[in-house]
Amino acid sequence: MKRRSFIQVSSLAGAGVAIPGIQAAQSRKATRKAPRSRLNVAILGSGLRGQSHIGLLLDRDDCDVIAIADPDQVMVDRTLQMFRKRGISAPRVYQDGDEDYLNLLDKEDLDLVIIASPWRWHTEMSIAALEKNCYVGVEVCGAFSIDECWELVRAQERSNTHLFFLENVCYRRDVMAILNMVRQGLFGELLHLEGGYQHDLRGVKFNDGPGGGSGVKFGDDAFSEAKWRTIHSVHRNGDLYPTHGIGPVAMYADINRKNRFTHLTSMASKARGLHNYIVDHPMGGENHPNADIEFKLGDLVTTMIRCNNGETVVLHHDTNLPRPYSLGFRVQGTKGLWMDVNKSLHIEGMSPPHRWEEAKPYLEKYDHPLWKRHANKAEGAGHGGMDWFLVNSLVEHAMRNERPPMDVYDAATWLAITPLSEASIAGGSMPVTFPDFTRGRWTTAANTFATSDAY
Ligand code: NAD
Repeated sequence: MKRRSFIQVSSLAGAGVAIPGIQAAQSRKATRKAPRSRLNVAILGSGLRGQSHIGLLLDRDDCDVIAIADPDQVMVDRTLQMFRKRGISAPRVYQDGDEDYLNLLDKEDLDLVIIASPWRWHTEMSIAALEKNCYVGVEVCGAFSIDECWELVRAQERSNTHLFFLENVCYRRDVMAILNMVRQGLFGELLHLEGGYQHDLRGVKFNDGPGGGSGVKFGDDAFSEAKWRTIHSVHRNGDLYPTHGIGPVAMYADINRKNRFTHLTSMASKARGLHNYIVDHPMGGENHPNADIEFKLGDLVTTMIRCNNGETVVLHHDTNLPRPYSLGFRVQGTKGLWMDVNKSLHIEGMSPPHRWEEAKPYLEKYDHPLWKRHANKAEGAGHGGMDWFLVNSLVEHAMRNERPPMDVYDAATWLAITPLSEASIAGGSMPVTFPDFTRGRWTTAANTFATSDAY
């Protein structure tokens, strides 16, 4: 209904009739002015993650979510319900197929665009939004090719705005306390870092939704990520989701800021988990049509990365097997180490020799100033509160049109791990080199992540 009124307005504009709102929108886009005190926001992809962002935005008094694009009626209905519940006027909805987001970008007067669609769309949508000079926040994934990463970089460089890569784990409370300790030199000079995505996603990859019986379905008639994520496990073998692990690691090691990743090598185990899940599931079995699928994704993909300044990194991707969730961080330097899986650390001169110490007292003592300042506001927000910090930082940077702490060069570097690891595995774990997306700027850039306690 609302769409139709847009079509009428745009056809009037096409006929040369002056529409003040549209002219204002065009000139605003051409010359983004900062700072702003209120943002017009659009969400491209209002599925589960998009709705989580919308919830946080609707709780703020400085953002108006004025439009969403999503072709899925179920997700649109869920999203609109969030507005109704809060008594906030509904956003305009663009749901006429996969490309209707382009109409949204053409018609709406936007400051900030948040992209929470399936991975396949992230780069196209980011580029389209940057071309409209909207500040862009784009959700995490892995790239499909190195060319795609370069396209993203070039699009941002052509624009007069920024791309904020929405890696929320960089804002996790323990991760930030450890960053504080790294910066204060408690671990000495860093030598080795580990992280990864170790999350049993079998119930996400096969999910037919609330009320659907949670069988072993994926694809068009499944729910949320089972619609689009599972197919990657059928056709690809590499670290498909590197950024939750590599984001914090990159911040610890100042990657793209006087340090950089030089090359990696990846190895994948055989694939068993998803097939076994289908066969063993009460709604699956040996005769289920999905039991014939050969999944290409190795259940454990392990990637080793070497940094220019001599550090090594190990990254894990482990999503197909029964296991408790753990991102498996390890930060090790000349004076000691932290490992999140056993919630402990050891620091020479502070810890009893050769013994682990509980990390908790250190995490409290070195709680990051940002967390100390805003912990009460983050209470109840997604993923232990870190999503509040992510969205707050996004909004504050967008208000000022400031370069984000996780920028397009970080996005390109972290996303590139996926195609590089695929190439390495396909080549018998051969080493593959990282492109320098900063084109040499890493030699002088400073790490601005969480250097202010404001946002
Ligand atoms: P989802 O399937 O629930 O939501 C994706 C939505 O995008 C769906 O509603 C779908 O209909 C919509 N969509 C599909 N094609 C579209 C198009 N062409 N235009 C507009 N909308 C389109 O998946 P999700 O769990 O919300 O994941 C979305 C993104 O967020 C993914 O990149 C995922 O990896 C990421 N994610 C991040 C976190 C985190 O903690 N950082 C958590 C969950 C998901």
